[in-house]
Amino acid sequence: MPGKTSAPNTPRITKFTNCRLVRGSSLVEQDLWIDSLTGKILKDQEAFYELHLSPDEIIDLGGRILAPGLIDTQLNGAQGFDFSVPCATKDEYDQGLRLVNQGLARTGPPFPWPRRNNPHPLDGAESLGAHVEGPFISPGRNGIHKPEVLRSAQTYDDLLHCYGASNLAPPPQHTSPIKMITAAPEVGNMMAQIPHITDTGIIYSIGHSDATYEQAISATHAGARMITHLFNAMRPFYHRNPGVFGLLGQSERRRPFYGVIADGIHLHPTSIKIAYNAHPEGLVLVTDAMRLCGLPDGVYEWTNGERIVKTGARLTLEGSDKIAGSSATLIECVNNFRRWSGASTADAINAATAVPARLLGLEKVKGCLDAGADADLVVLGESDDPYSGPTLTVDQVWKFGVKIHDADKVTAVAV
Ligand code: ZN
Repeated sequence: MPGKTSAPNTPRITKFTNCRLVRGSSLVEQDLWIDSLTGKILKDQEAFYELHLSPDEIIDLGGRILAPGLIDTQLNGAQGFDFSVPCATKDEYDQGLRLVNQGLARTGPPFPWPRRNNPHPLDGAESLGAHVEGPFISPGRNGIHKPEVLRSAQTYDDLLHCYGASNLAPPPQHTSPIKMITAAPEVGNMMAQIPHITDTGIIYSIGHSDATYEQAISATHAGARMITHLFNAMRPFYHRNPGVFGLLGQSERRRPFYGVIADGIHLHPTSIKIAYNAHPEGLVLVTDAMRLCGLPDGVYEWTNGERIVKTGARLTLEGSDKIAGSSATLIECVNNFRRWSGASTADAINAATAVPARLLGLEKVKGCLDAGADADLVVLGESDDPYSGPTLTVDQVWKFGVKIHDADKVTAVAV
């Protein structure tokens, strides 16, 4: 039972009232009941009339928004910990992962690394799987991936050798933490490997790729369901050859999901708006954040021996203007996206909740407020920023029915 127990004084049944719930493309005034024992959202009528449960706690949210926990499908690290740097021991890795997850709990639970069998609410954010970016990517579209580590796969054995056979075992043996692989379909003989990858249950995502429109279409026919950070590290849109971006003009059935880094640095707001208008149901907000998130400005050692310059949210490779990931939070991306795209508040939130949950095949479990789904919630306040306009803030984070972050309390303590 995933959410079983929590802190000793945690109330079992909590009822949120005077709140607006994200329901489809709308915000609906409605109560929500959750159970910290099962970690699930309750069916309110049933809880009251059939199960004879009454709330142990009633929380008046004063009209604030209650949304599902946020899901980030592209995260390289945080809190000074980097997923791409090998650890000396498993303990060291687990400790780093815990640090990341606890830090992320302040901005709404996400995606990244190995999912534990019995995640505990107080561990912070939950890891739903690993997104492995590379090394089978285009040398010309490598971004800050070091050219020396890039590879080209001719056969499936090349993939097994790189990722490890147990990580690519087909279901039901597939218990690997790998949930998604980003690779360039035109590199080597990758196109022929896509069906083998998707047969294991792993999502194949086109990224760091110089694929033409035709090659990108072939990749979707082979099973690609996602585009990694659309526009960044790929052949640009050209009117005679729209490249990977052209997939958004495909028929309903073939259009893949696509990640968008709405940090104000990676993409022009209008590019995001154009993509969203072309395929609104597929847009997945991602941060692509890395370990320098939250650290002060300065020059930092990078994993490949080079150095990264951090200036505010902007991260570049020293001596060049190459963008080196981001340090934005997911709620900042939601706010930017809402401002730039014209999406409703609910749909802006959906791009970081319901849509990634659908991509991951977790639509009834995560990213929604339906009865039976995990009680992972964020309470969103709304302030009026004099420069940026209405801005959502993460006021509270709940995991499996237990409150794990309360910004009001943090402020109170700080004062
Ligand atoms: Zn990338």
